[in-house]
Amino acid sequence: MSERNEFRDLGMDRRIDRRDFLNGVAVGIGSLYAARSVAAVEAAETSQAAAADAYPPRRIGLRGQYPEAIQHFGAIDSGKYSQYPGIDVDTKETYDLVIVGGGLSGLSAAYFWQRALGANQKVLILDNHDDFGGHAKRNEFVYNGRTYLSFGGTMSIATPYPYSYMAKRLVEDLGIDVTKNSTVTNRVLFETHNLGPSTFFDKEHFGEDRLVVGTGRLPWDQFFAKAPVSDQARKDLIRLHGENPDYMTGMTVEQKMAKLERMSYQDFLLKHAKMSPDALPYFLGQGGRNNKRVDTTPALEAARRGSVGFDGLGLPKEEQFRQGSYTFHFPDGNASIARMLVSRLVPKALPGPLDVNTVGKAVVAYEKLDEPSAGVRIRLNSTVARVAHDGAADSATAVRVAYLRDGKMHEVRGSNVILACYNAMIPKLMPELPDKQRQALAYSVKVPMLYTNVLLRRWSAFKQLGVASISSPGMYHPSASLDPGTTVGGYQGVTTPDEPIVVHMVRNPNKPGLPRKEQNRLGQQELRTMTFQDFELAIRRQFARMLAGTGFDPAADIVGMAVNRWPDGYAYTYDTLADPDVPPEQRPHVIGRQRFGRVTIANSDAGAAAFTNQAFDEAHRAVQEILLSRGLS
Ligand SMILES: Cc1cc2nc3c(=O)[nH]c(=O)nc-3n(C[C@H](O)[C@H](O)[C@H](O)COP(=O)(O)OP(=O)(O)OC[C@H]3O[C@@H](n4cnc5c(N)ncnc54)[C@H](O)[C@@H]3O)c2cc1C
Repeated sequence: MSERNEFRDLGMDRRIDRRDFLNGVAVGIGSLYAARSVAAVEAAETSQAAAADAYPPRRIGLRGQYPEAIQHFGAIDSGKYSQYPGIDVDTKETYDLVIVGGGLSGLSAAYFWQRALGANQKVLILDNHDDFGGHAKRNEFVYNGRTYLSFGGTMSIATPYPYSYMAKRLVEDLGIDVTKNSTVTNRVLFETHNLGPSTFFDKEHFGEDRLVVGTGRLPWDQFFAKAPVSDQARKDLIRLHGENPDYMTGMTVEQKMAKLERMSYQDFLLKHAKMSPDALPYFLGQGGRNNKRVDTTPALEAARRGSVGFDGLGLPKEEQFRQGSYTFHFPDGNASIARMLVSRLVPKALPGPLDVNTVGKAVVAYEKLDEPSAGVRIRLNSTVARVAHDGAADSATAVRVAYLRDGKMHEVRGSNVILACYNAMIPKLMPELPDKQRQALAYSVKVPMLYTNVLLRRWSAFKQLGVASISSPGMYHPSASLDPGTTVGGYQGVTTPDEPIVVHMVRNPNKPGLPRKEQNRLGQQELRTMTFQDFELAIRRQFARMLAGTGFDPAADIVGMAVNRWPDGYAYTYDTLADPDVPPEQRPHVIGRQRFGRVTIANSDAGAAAFTNQAFDEAHRAVQEILLSRGLS
């Protein structure tokens, strides 16, 4: 097929945003089309499309760290502002606290600050995006007059570690009762239609395209019997997924654990379990916590996660942290938490305080986020380029904060500053930090992540196949799952197959074989350089192949797309393969997060853990450090 025909069949020529609108309008004005001039209809289209575009959660296309939001990051990184820059606009504004970064850490820092010192405190939050929340972002699709929600980043309250007392208190203060999660979870769709997991084997890695339904549901010999893999790979995969012998005989348990700590899961499979390399593609896209892959996950971590192959080794059963009840999922993920916080910080913009029952449908008045009369102001589209004490760090009474907005360098002053942004950027924002601290901050390399949400006008193809999710080890997005949304906060999740639905797809770009940090860097680069059209083509092609033979028509059935790219995704975490084994107090994130004069450091990087509770904990610590140093606690 020529490229031109392929593009047409996939729908690359379709203007999704405009088509959404057209369908919406068609429902609303129906017969008016006949009576009104084309020009009038087009004018109405344009103004409604513009109205949708004015509301950040409704902007679709390339989202997450979209290009304009990070347009100044390259210059900051190159050291352009190592000398304090010339200021175009001196706002003459002074604040008790300036927070750099409006993610969950920055927002919760403002909340803790107000709680400690009262509502008359003046706080400014600066963020480079057009929406608040950091990774906790909301995607809204409007189709045929109905709004469909999904999460552009942080998905849920959930963690492998216990929530701290402070983080729990904050969740409770916001009115979230995590014990109610099961009452909002929308399982009806999967149960009613008996939908389950599946695996798509692609021809580039497995010789042919084939979807095999029943991953983990069918007995493994039956499942792999249907997979397009070599006889040897099939035998090995069935063996590994069954009861395994001890692949490390002759070693004590301690010796085994010491060895597993220092080898990758891939090495364990190939060298100890003697798996045929033919079977390795099946493990692509699989790995350990924090998006480590089969080649970068320490084998011991894989064993502790319950990965296949280890059950004959006689390893001690780990005391797993299972606080199952500490889980809660809103249809827009933890963007709901960001909205709940903002309703408490800037009530004029988001009247409330919002709770679980009201957060879903609340509409943000973005123009009211930054009103001079408010105690807390949130200034979006503002990239901080430089932070410096006004004088020596140990005696200054103010900190200068220079930020770019509308192409001009602005300045505000704060009695205190919290950097709730990214650890690796902080040495560029404050080159006067001590050398050791700067090096420690620069140590981490965030994990690149891609959360793509695709709105389908119907999901009959999934129903026909009996699948709720498709794992595609070798495809651009290794996972695609129906996201019916939860029914909470005034939002009604999807329950019937004739309703449109969001498919949530995930990719963590990497380059197998390289050290983990290098893989992260290359993955970041991939996400920064791909255009929306590149992503769109990969998405449409993948849908066409995964759902081939079902009548799925990518041109007509895909009606919305939000590609949330996060080159600066998860916080970096340590592991036994890639990082030196040093005492906790010598870890780079601990050395890096020390208070410097009137500046403290929050954000999940400062906790070296990529979770919401960490963002809260680090915010609380950063606020406490200022209060203690000022004698205010
Ligand atoms: C795709 C994805 C899914 C996740 N899922 C979960 C989950 O389900 N559960 C969970 O607990 N955790 C999850 N996480 C982890 C998540 O990182 C944390 O939960 C938390 O949201 C991090 O908050 P933060 O405020 O520390 O950082 P961020 O959310 O990154 O916020 C920092 C903010 O600072 C801004 N900033 C950076 N530099 C500047 C500058 N120079 N000037 C102005 N602003 C700046 C950034 O743009 C950003 O908006 C996920 C993360 C990602 C990327």
